[in-house]
Amino acid sequence: MRILLVEDERRLADALEYILKKNHFIVDAAYDGINGQDMAETGIYDLIILDRMLPGKEGVEILKYLRSKKITSAVIILTAKDAVPCRIEGLDAGADDYLIKPFSTEELMARIRALGRRSHHKVPSDLFQIGDFTFDPKSCEGRYKDKHVRFTLKETQLLELLLRNAGQVLTKEQILERVWGFDSEVEMNAIEIYIYYVRKKLNALNSSLSISTIRGIGYCLKEAEHVLENTNNINTL
Ligand code: CA
Repeated sequence: MRILLVEDERRLADALEYILKKNHFIVDAAYDGINGQDMAETGIYDLIILDRMLPGKEGVEILKYLRSKKITSAVIILTAKDAVPCRIEGLDAGADDYLIKPFSTEELMARIRALGRRSHHKVPSDLFQIGDFTFDPKSCEGRYKDKHVRFTLKETQLLELLLRNAGQVLTKEQILERVWGFDSEVEMNAIEIYIYYVRKKLNALNSSLSISTIRGIGYCLKEAEHVLENTNNINTL
C-alpha cells in the first residue's frame, strides 16, 4: 500500500514517515501544499494523509481539487481545529476520515486499518489470495498448500505491487517509482535482481504463480495455466 503524507511540520512528518515505513507501507512525503497536490494528482496513492494548514495551498482546497480531477485515493485529513464546522467541511470536500492534532500514532494506524476494511476505496485488504496461494504483506509470508516462505521487505513490496496488478503488465519505470519511490537512486537492474529473488521464492513454493518478462517493457504476474492432468480420464468418469 502506497501512502502520500502532506505535512509541513517537519518533525511530525518525519515521525509519521518512520512509523508508516516500519508498518511496511511505501511512503512519499511532501512538505507544502503545492508539491503535495502535484504528487497526489499522479493518482498512484492508495491513501493520502493531508494536513489542513499548509504553506502554498490549504489541505481542504487540495482535496476539493483532487476530487474534481476524479482522484479516488482515500484521504485522512489532519487538523488542529476541532470545531465541528471544520470537520464537516473536510468530510464534505471528500475526506474519508479526519484526525485532530495531537493524535497518537496508534490511532492513525487504526484509522488506516479501518479504511482498508471499507471495500469501496482503493485501500486494499491485507491478505492476497490467488488459488491456493496466499500472501500476507504484514508478515511478509507467502503460503502455498503446506509450504511457506518469507520474503524480505523489498521483495514484499514488489510482490504486493505485482499481485495488485495481476494479469497486467507493469513497466520497469512504474515498478521503480512505486516500490523504490520518486527520488530513488536505485538503478533499473535492481528490479531485475529483485524479480529474480521473488521468482525463486515463488518457485520454491511450487505455486502456480509466475512472473513473465515482457521484453523491453516490464513484468506481468500471472497464475500459470493449470495442466489438466486428468483430461484423459474424463470419459471414464
Ligand atoms: Ca500544518
